Amino acid sequence: MEPPKALSACPYGSKRVVIELYSGSVYPDRCRSSQCPYCLPLNARRRCLAITYAGPQRMIRLSLLAGESDENPCATALTRVGLVRRNLKRMGLEPGEWSFTIEKNPKETGFHAHCLQRGTSIPQAVLQEACVRAGAGFPYINSIKRQGIWTSRYGLKGFGADGYGLKAFRPNGDAREALRINNGRMEHHSRGFFAIDGTVMRVREMEREALAAMNEYKRVAYIGASASSAASILADTRLRDRLTKEVNRRSVGKLRAMV
Ligand SMILES: [Zn+2]
Repeated sequence: MEPPKALSACPYGSKRVVIELYSGSVYPDRCRSSQCPYCLPLNARRRCLAITYAGPQRMIRLSLLAGESDENPCATALTRVGLVRRNLKRMGLEPGEWSFTIEKNPKETGFHAHCLQRGTSIPQAVLQEACVRAGAGFPYINSIKRQGIWTSRYGLKGFGADGYGLKAFRPNGDAREALRINNGRMEHHSRGFFAIDGTVMRVREMEREALAAMNEYKRVAYIGASASSAASILADTRLRDRLTKEVNRRSVGKLRAMV
């Protein structure tokens, strides 16, 4: 089988571009849908950043969450994960916040999940008992010793999101399959997983915050333009300055409206 060719642009985006006025970077417009083969790895990369930024402390592998012949493995797995969490609470332990992705076992023997956890440490024996009672398989829990990129890579490897470079599409990844297994989602998370200093964030906000943090809060000002006008806008220093000021004024206005 021929590996799918990497797409150089989103097939559903408009012909317009997005310009970042400070750096002069130009990006093609994209549809941002996870159903799109070009946009899915980019969305997954953003989500990876958000997961990393949420500061997970442990990795949990939950096995046997659904059987091979299950018609809706995602629904079954979500129910089982819910039961594992409930069992932990009944055993007097707070499960903490979880973000997890369901994956197919390599030998086609059912489905497991990779979970990133923040909160109280869960002893292996307690987790094991909670899984047995939920009808799940043998779990593993490990603390994350090195904070950073690779933790989210672990969670979303099925989406071709490992590495933070602009490797937009990995020919060997099975991103579409991963999305299908997870019923159209890149990951599932408990309500408080995406939070900064205890304040729960919407996942999109968290992605934006994570991206800003990764870029060390460099100033950014985005505008949309037609592809043909991008070069002339960037070459015109006065126009560029004026547009930058306008964008900044607008974001200050938005901030005022929110406060
Ligand atoms: Zn797209």
